[in-house]
Amino acid sequence: MSAKTRPNKQPGFSTRAIHEGYDPFDNRRALTAPIYMTSTFAFEDAEEGGAVYAGEVAGYTYGRTMNPTQGLLQERLASLEEGEEALVFGSGMGAISNAFWTLCKAGDRVVCDQILYGSTYAFFTKGLAKFGVEVEFIDLNDTEARAAALARRPRVVYFESPANPNLRIVDIAAVAAEARAAGAISMIDNTFATPALQRPLTLGVDVVVHSMTKYLGGHGDLLAGAVIGSSEYLTPMRKEGLRYLTGATLSPLNVFLVLRGLKTLEIRMARHSESAAAVAALLAGHPKVAEVHYPFLAGSPDEALARRQMSAGSGLVAFELAGGVAAGKAFIDALEMVHCAVSLGDAETLAQHPASMTHSTYSQEERARYGITDGLIRLSVGLENSEDILEDIERALEKF
Ligand code: PLP
Repeated sequence: MSAKTRPNKQPGFSTRAIHEGYDPFDNRRALTAPIYMTSTFAFEDAEEGGAVYAGEVAGYTYGRTMNPTQGLLQERLASLEEGEEALVFGSGMGAISNAFWTLCKAGDRVVCDQILYGSTYAFFTKGLAKFGVEVEFIDLNDTEARAAALARRPRVVYFESPANPNLRIVDIAAVAAEARAAGAISMIDNTFATPALQRPLTLGVDVVVHSMTKYLGGHGDLLAGAVIGSSEYLTPMRKEGLRYLTGATLSPLNVFLVLRGLKTLEIRMARHSESAAAVAALLAGHPKVAEVHYPFLAGSPDEALARRQMSAGSGLVAFELAGGVAAGKAFIDALEMVHCAVSLGDAETLAQHPASMTHSTYSQEERARYGITDGLIRLSVGLENSEDILEDIERALEKF
């Protein structure tokens, strides 16, 4: 950060999201950081090239593992999540798979919470499991199931909170402490909350992963992922995961877009949260709505825990209509301004049906067992004026 900022005081979240790691006076006075659009880097001579490769001299070798534009984003992400280091990837799935291919080997066990994003679930059931890593799905909030699973000595404990799609909250500090006591690495997907609302590393978690495609990018125009944590885990992910296991590198052009998105993250998350809380309240009071899931909804079973570990409820709301699946589909079709689309965290409000879309990777029995109901609808509440969002939802509810 520039010498002009106040000494001896950690600047605020948005200040770091805007300034951390960059000084225009080191970059021909360009206020916005340049994009280093290059796949490789020149060495002074053969000897220096060898020394940089060997890690004896600092420098860049090849764009798959490191690029100065990526370096700036990584520094900013580490600061915002309060971690030692960050690594960026070509997508959220690139980040998650990189972490697991690097940390696990055949014979290891992974314990996962049972409510996960559908492709993450498929990565564990169809990907990792194929290579001899045993994956166990449990309700991580069930303290007895958790103790029994940890007694089987997993290498990693993995979860989301709030979880996709039903926004269930997991007790982050409890899971992190118990995993550590059992010698396991705890890893959370913090995509739904973002570091603007929840910082799991400060609650004891070892590794945070993100789909930056969502709120961090914030504009629905890119795919990107990140892993944040200590160098102990991040260095091998760069040296093995990025270099030859996945190669899931993030383009410098997309890094630029994420850097731009981060500058407004804190104010966007406040607006998303405020509008989503209003949507949740509207739905909770509507006679056609059977159930509403929103972490900060008054009286919801997760409310106290959510308020302990998050500073606001974020922008996702899930709900079930009294008429089940048919009513849910009719509701989505009756929306006018709100589009039917997967993904989340964009400026546009989006509605989707997890059972047939994002969570169709779970079988019907698995969804029933884990509480991902067939009638569930997930809304990603956007940045439009909240009265317009509420009006569209209310109108759609009246239409059938
Ligand atoms: N984690 C969560 C919670 C998600 O919702 C998603 C995508 O929807 C991912 C990870 C995967 O991210 P990406 O689509 O950037 O690969």
